[in-house]
Amino acid sequence: MTVKEIFDSMDYGPAPESAGDALAWIVDQGAKFGHFINGSFTKATDDFQSRNPANGETLATLSQASQEDVNAAVTAARKAQAKWEKLGGHGRAKYLYAISRLLQKHARLFAVLETLDNGKPIRESRDIDIPLAQRHFYYHAGMAQLMDSELPDRVALGVCGQIIPWNFPLLMLAWKIAPALAMGNTVVLKPAEYTSLTALLFADICRQAGLPDGVVNIVTGDGAVGEMITAHEDINKIAFTGSTDVGRKIREATAGSGKSLTLELGGKSPYVVFDDADIDSAIEGLVDAIWFNQGQVCCAGSRLLVQEGIAEKFHSKLKARMDGLRLGNPLDKCIDVGAVVDPVQLQTITDMVNTNSEGETYHAAVEMPVEGCFYPPTLITGLAPSSTLMQEEIFGPVLVSTTFRTPDEAVALANNTRYGLAASLWTENVNLALDIAPKLVAGVVWVNATNLFDAAAGFGGKRESGFGREGGWEGLAAYTKPRKATKALAPIAGFKGDKGPSDPLDRTPKLYIGGKQARPDGGYSRPIYGKSGNLLGQAPIANRKDIRNAVEAAQAAKGWAGTTGHLRAQILYYIAENLSARAEEFASRVNALTNARNGAREVEASIQRLFSAAAWADKYDGQVHNVPIRGVALAMREPTGVIGALCPDDAPLLGLVSVMAPAIAMGNRVILAASEPFPLAATDFYQVLDTSDVPAGVVNILTGPHSELASTFASHLDVDAVWSFSSTNLSAEIERGSAGNLKRTWVNNGQTLDWFEDNSRALLEASTEIKNIWVPYGE
Ligand code: NDP
Repeated sequence: MTVKEIFDSMDYGPAPESAGDALAWIVDQGAKFGHFINGSFTKATDDFQSRNPANGETLATLSQASQEDVNAAVTAARKAQAKWEKLGGHGRAKYLYAISRLLQKHARLFAVLETLDNGKPIRESRDIDIPLAQRHFYYHAGMAQLMDSELPDRVALGVCGQIIPWNFPLLMLAWKIAPALAMGNTVVLKPAEYTSLTALLFADICRQAGLPDGVVNIVTGDGAVGEMITAHEDINKIAFTGSTDVGRKIREATAGSGKSLTLELGGKSPYVVFDDADIDSAIEGLVDAIWFNQGQVCCAGSRLLVQEGIAEKFHSKLKARMDGLRLGNPLDKCIDVGAVVDPVQLQTITDMVNTNSEGETYHAAVEMPVEGCFYPPTLITGLAPSSTLMQEEIFGPVLVSTTFRTPDEAVALANNTRYGLAASLWTENVNLALDIAPKLVAGVVWVNATNLFDAAAGFGGKRESGFGREGGWEGLAAYTKPRKATKALAPIAGFKGDKGPSDPLDRTPKLYIGGKQARPDGGYSRPIYGKSGNLLGQAPIANRKDIRNAVEAAQAAKGWAGTTGHLRAQILYYIAENLSARAEEFASRVNALTNARNGAREVEASIQRLFSAAAWADKYDGQVHNVPIRGVALAMREPTGVIGALCPDDAPLLGLVSVMAPAIAMGNRVILAASEPFPLAATDFYQVLDTSDVPAGVVNILTGPHSELASTFASHLDVDAVWSFSSTNLSAEIERGSAGNLKRTWVNNGQTLDWFEDNSRALLEASTEIKNIWVPYGE
């Protein structure tokens, strides 16, 4: 072709990147790999192959880790951990900095190897995956440096087991390893079976950086290796990215083990286009939203919601743009869409599209490569919100679309999913954008943009997209724990008795649901005695129906989340005022119940907790993250939602108030199961709430056996979080039960929390989740 002809046609010529250096590196390693344990590679056992999905060629053979390999990796990590942590923030920062530098020096080798192994276009691995991986190590070198001064009360968790998927192999590794190492942990990481090569190259980088042996260990193999890591008793934390199904299994497998857990799971993220959007930009955004990495992105904008008036025009422009996408050799720098990761994934995508009989399916009119795992960019229009393909993650280059009429309908459709990972919204009206963004159930919202990531802005989901954040200050909590040691919490029993009440005038405590006193549905109560065996009162026994009613009331009170911090503070102060007015009565009630003399202290500390929560209500702010775009990422703290809490048994009034106050200060609604042995402090307390202008449903109080209430809380699909501070250790049951809708849990694992200390910071953190709203500037 002559230059003149090229100018006439404006066709792209081929611009292939050489695979030479990457293939040579593989050959240098013998084209076979063992595991990286305790600073060196084990002997390769040739168990499975890693192939290039673009042409099916075998790149290398890899080893399937045995239980002994996993044990050896965990032992090495354990042995290295204390010394690594003692190195101090600055000591660790130097290693993280060295790793970032080495990633930079070998950037092209990593990019080409990633593209060969995964099939993603070289433009993406070169310009996105590898630079972002470097950025994570630089950013967390900074976090290591700052840990001693900024997080003096936090320490490392210990050994972290990390399991990552195949869609961003090196980037996911960086997201997991960088913060873990920065905070003084050591790691055992398993890459996905399809894409282990850049993790093994990274192991080599660790050696080159002189990282102490055992700090990073990499074991390869399939899901069985992931299961071994998950089940290993000497691992303190599991960090997982992958499918919701496996995430759920991991939640169940780790239940009650005391392991920390973060899950970054699937999504079906809405891409909302309003009729005043810059349509060409929104179309170009879609290319990045759903054809980036062949749509194999957890936060892919895979669900297009377009306002009815512009839908036809939008779809026809979109189809024209799709026809212009270039598919082919991912090493070609002119390629837009590369290969799907493996024939298995290609089959899954093909089957999902072929079994759909609804709407209209449009495959882009593009030239398809003759070999390799390629799937054409696809658009399916006219689907109902409930259609399978509108609800299920396809994880391929397939966009589904429906229309909406009003902003309210857009929000309802966007949130009509079990997921809540990300969302994009497109409008030229800043008022509309900033009104809609907070209403979307998502951990990340991009305004007039999509798929923006940075180490400084936390990433993670809501609902069944998992919990925990990766990146930013918010991501660090997941790799640290409080410095203060805890003690075992012994079960606390109430007193037995057979005497009547000291005052014959009956008082009938009830449950408190939706702002009203309610008799227990089951019609049962149990006697509560003081130490000398005299009857103090009858406590109602709540059952699952009462919990259901309380959840309904709490859900109906969702307007509380939208009230101002100032208003919530006013109400918390008012509760404190009313409690103070009855201080003596509450103090003697607590003393009678517990046979201790802590009553007055409990009341005084409860008033202080109410003041603390009121103080924080308008001060526990989000942040504006300094991300490297012309724009900002607004890290907004949002309430977790409806929280079911089993309150402490040891401090019946103070424990309940300490749990309630920060939660409602942040806009949550709570269902509190009062202290099981000493419930009557709580039934008196609802009278205080009644006189303090607390809106109906914001606080609900139940009494009854914690072991029975716990499982209903954990399995209820409209409860967003369950906390347990009960002296009955219900941690395993709650964590296992929570796997259903992957609700957030905070359980005590049978350990104490000192309620006479102000734990407000920890409670505020558990009461909120961060949503990052990215707002680019400029025309
Ligand atoms: P998986 O969730 O199966 O795999 C993710 C990681 O977990 C891999 O390293 C995998 O090993 C490992 N694993 C598999 N089973 C277990 C287990 N029981 N215990 C511990 N670890 C385990 O995702 P896939 O890669 O198989 O993809 C399936 C679907 O998941 C995709 O089609 C997509 O819908 C979704 N997905 C979502 C991702 C996200 O980022 N949200 C990323 C990847 C997939 P190995 O792969 O080696 O078998």
